[in-house]
Order: sequence, then C-alpha cells, then structure tokens
Amino acid sequence: MNLVYLAQNIIEAKIIKDLLDASNIENKIMNEHAIGAMGELPFIQTYPEIWLAKEEDLLRARKLIDSFVKGSNYPDTNCSKCGESMPSNFELCWNCGES
Ligand SMILES: [Zn+2]
Repeated sequence: MNLVYLAQNIIEAKIIKDLLDASNIENKIMNEHAIGAMGELPFIQTYPEIWLAKEEDLLRARKLIDSFVKGSNYPDTNCSKCGESMPSNFELCWNCGES
C-alpha cells in the first residue's frame, strides 16, 4: 500500500477516490471515520488519506491528483472560438483545439 495524498477533508478525499476509480486505479480512503476521534488523536492523523493498492499506479495517480488540485483553483472559462466551457488553465480547447 502506498500513501498518495493527504486530503483536507472527507469531501475532497471522495472526489479524489472517484477520480482514481474512473482511471481504474485501485485505491482506498484511510482515516475516513477518524473525525469522530478528534481530540484523542494528534490533529494531523485525522485527515483522510488516499492509499493505492499498487505501487505502479503511483505516478499516474499523482499526475491525476495534481491536475485536479491545480484545475480546481481556476474558474471555468469559455473557448473564444466554439464557446465550449473549460477550466481556464487549459492551454487548448478540448473541443475544437483552439489555443
Ligand atoms: Zn473551442
């Protein structure tokens, strides 16, 4: 098992899990229920952790999570050519290829 990400909260952890599931990366959320134990454990241990079942998925998972974390910091924008909505950090429109 390989720790790949420390989420800020369980909602973020679930989004990351879905993201990895969608790419067929076997993963598991640890500390999911640790929130109820707050006060008994050091604070850092109560963050949900994403663990991977297979080490060979680590790089792929990191890239996916990385682009998710970065992408979520940008508001959506619309393509100047076709009007398709996309994250503003995309360099090319995924629909028509306009930069
Ligand atoms: Zn476009």
